Amino acid sequence: MGKSRIMDDGESGLGASGFTSLDDSERFVQLLLQTTEAQKRIHAKSENQRCRLICAFAQSSSQSMRKRAERLSGCCKWPLLMVRKDGTTGLSLQRCRDRLCPVCAAMKGRETSNRCKAAVQAMDDIRFMTLTILSTGKTLVQAEDDAHNGFRELRRSEVWKSRVVGGLWTMEIKPGEKESTWNVHLHLLVDGEYFPQDLLSDAWKKATGDSYIVDVRAVNSRSAAIHYITKYIAKPGDFTKFSDEEIIDFAASVKGRRLFGTFGKLHASIKKEAEVEPETVSPHAGSCISFHNVRAMATARISEAERVVYLLQRCGGFYSLAAGGDWASNGEKFTEEDRKELSVNIVYLISLVDKERKILDDANEILRINSIKSGMHVPRVPKSIATQIVIDNWLQRGSWSPKA
Ligand SMILES: [Zn+2]
Repeated sequence: MGKSRIMDDGESGLGASGFTSLDDSERFVQLLLQTTEAQKRIHAKSENQRCRLICAFAQSSSQSMRKRAERLSGCCKWPLLMVRKDGTTGLSLQRCRDRLCPVCAAMKGRETSNRCKAAVQAMDDIRFMTLTILSTGKTLVQAEDDAHNGFRELRRSEVWKSRVVGGLWTMEIKPGEKESTWNVHLHLLVDGEYFPQDLLSDAWKKATGDSYIVDVRAVNSRSAAIHYITKYIAKPGDFTKFSDEEIIDFAASVKGRRLFGTFGKLHASIKKEAEVEPETVSPHAGSCISFHNVRAMATARISEAERVVYLLQRCGGFYSLAAGGDWASNGEKFTEEDRKELSVNIVYLISLVDKERKILDDANEILRINSIKSGMHVPRVPKSIATQIVIDNWLQRGSWSPKA
């Protein structure tokens, strides 16, 4: 083995990752970068960021980072329409929920800013505050710990308690100018009395032991204040400007760490961080159908499917993107009537597929019995493939009418 080969493996960490060659790793990355049509549309605006994250995670020597790459690559790949147990219908994008994923982070940012609105309205005298952590010679984890611990100490001090009644905080982390250095800031929205900058600087130095750079300024608009405090959740970083090592370092350091919170009087006014979107359905749950298949059915001129695609395009947001753009809407408002029609059609399409799936299930059962009798192993057709076969058959028949 040549020397350069050893160095390659050592530097990229591939030797420890289970890949036998660079080609394997490259193939893995290429596989993860493949996108479905729905995914292309949903992630269109942030495709560069997403690719950077997937490439960095996929080439990491850490198994958990490579798993994370796989989850990111699956984000919104096969959005689903479903019927819940109680008979209501729903849409699920099948998101990855990684806090670094641009689409998932944007959604989280929107949820958080909605939760902040009432709290910020209730604040009397708001100020922006920035507390900077001196991070020279510290690892990123150390700098983040210092920010958390320092902020806790600061809130216990008399000078703070006599001026501040409560507020919101968020942490901003970005690579520093020099290699392998980081800038860590706490951004706060603070409700309370005037806080002189030199007094705050002294208190911050006392609380952290070394950091003293602070900034205080008045807030003119409450909506700007909400944007300011939630923008780092909606966009944790510009990963196109991060190196692979920086992405991994960042991702590992923020895992399980709180990057947003409330304090003081405001603590009770914001509901605890909870998963707002309850739509998590396994693609094999049964009573669901992928947007992809609904589009195929619409192409086969099944009128209910055409209506579903048309209505989804009008309901807005990521669901419109998932549904695709070739059945252009004329800008009509999405009404309650539309919602009902959408729901009825979803139930109908799923019932059609379920009926055909049942036939395939029965066929599978006969295969199973025969294979026991004959002693020859005949593999079953998996449910996901069964659905695809059903749809493909409809497409081939062309003139297929669901009512016939
Ligand atoms: Zn995601």
